[in-house]
Amino acid sequence: MFNYQLGVQELVENCFAYLQPSGGWGYSNAGLVVGDGQSLLVDTLFDLKLTDAMLMAMHPMTSSAPISTVINTHANGDHCYGNERVAYAEIISSTSAAEEMHQVPPALLATLNAAPGEVGDLFRSFFGDFDFAGITLTPPNRTFDGRLDITIGGRSVELIEVGPAHTNGDVIVHVPDAKTVYTGDILFINGTPIVWAGPLENWIAACDLIIALGADVVVPGHGPITNNAGVAEVRDYLAFVLREASARQDAGMDAFDAARDIALDAFGTWGEFGRISVNVDTVYRSRNPLHKSPDVVEQFRRMAAIEGAH
Ligand SMILES: [Zn+2]
Repeated sequence: MFNYQLGVQELVENCFAYLQPSGGWGYSNAGLVVGDGQSLLVDTLFDLKLTDAMLMAMHPMTSSAPISTVINTHANGDHCYGNERVAYAEIISSTSAAEEMHQVPPALLATLNAAPGEVGDLFRSFFGDFDFAGITLTPPNRTFDGRLDITIGGRSVELIEVGPAHTNGDVIVHVPDAKTVYTGDILFINGTPIVWAGPLENWIAACDLIIALGADVVVPGHGPITNNAGVAEVRDYLAFVLREASARQDAGMDAFDAARDIALDAFGTWGEFGRISVNVDTVYRSRNPLHKSPDVVEQFRRMAAIEGAH
């Protein structure tokens, strides 16, 4: 029904998506909700060049309805590092997402991307396409907890916090008059979800909440536009990982061994299937507070190892 190609496309009723195939690491989607004389931008992109290209592509819509409000769905840089380009607007996130943004500032990724040796090679294999140098961290200037209803040029928009799940403060954006929902990284379509925060039960509940909204159009954080059938597939993956990882934890298996042991079957055809290592580790941690997770460098090493890239 919708194309999956780089750029802006209208979904319905002055709701737009900005898509960045192939949806892998850092190639996120964004959204634009155009009201009467004002627009809402859902997420900025991973670096300034990508964000500038997006804002240029949106100019035909925003010239008569400037961006007055930005929502960052969560703290990962591919959804907020471009904020300085829209610093004139009100920038909203959940309180938890705003706090998390300070933990991984653009300067940290710039340093890792420029690092010599194995660590630098590892990070460049994931993020080498992007330019983090010179980005000014621009945090939200308005935060909320739970739920916030806003009006953009006469249109009602519902911001619903569903985290911690993918990250600590995930928010989805529902536009009832367009039967459209922008999910941020609560949905990866044709790619594997990565559960940094968890617990997985929260993310499964978030999928159920999205399905209950009854939207016709669902814009994921990564991958092509979908509908409730796509949401159900993500829920099925998470329920499968939760079940399989829990059984191995109860049997005393090491978390990384468990990740390598779980046969993904159909889910193994999704991109970035090595994320199973992070997801299993998150199951272990959420079921046992004494479980010690590896540091982020080791998490990336394990994903790369599973995908056979290193
Ligand atoms: Zn993302």
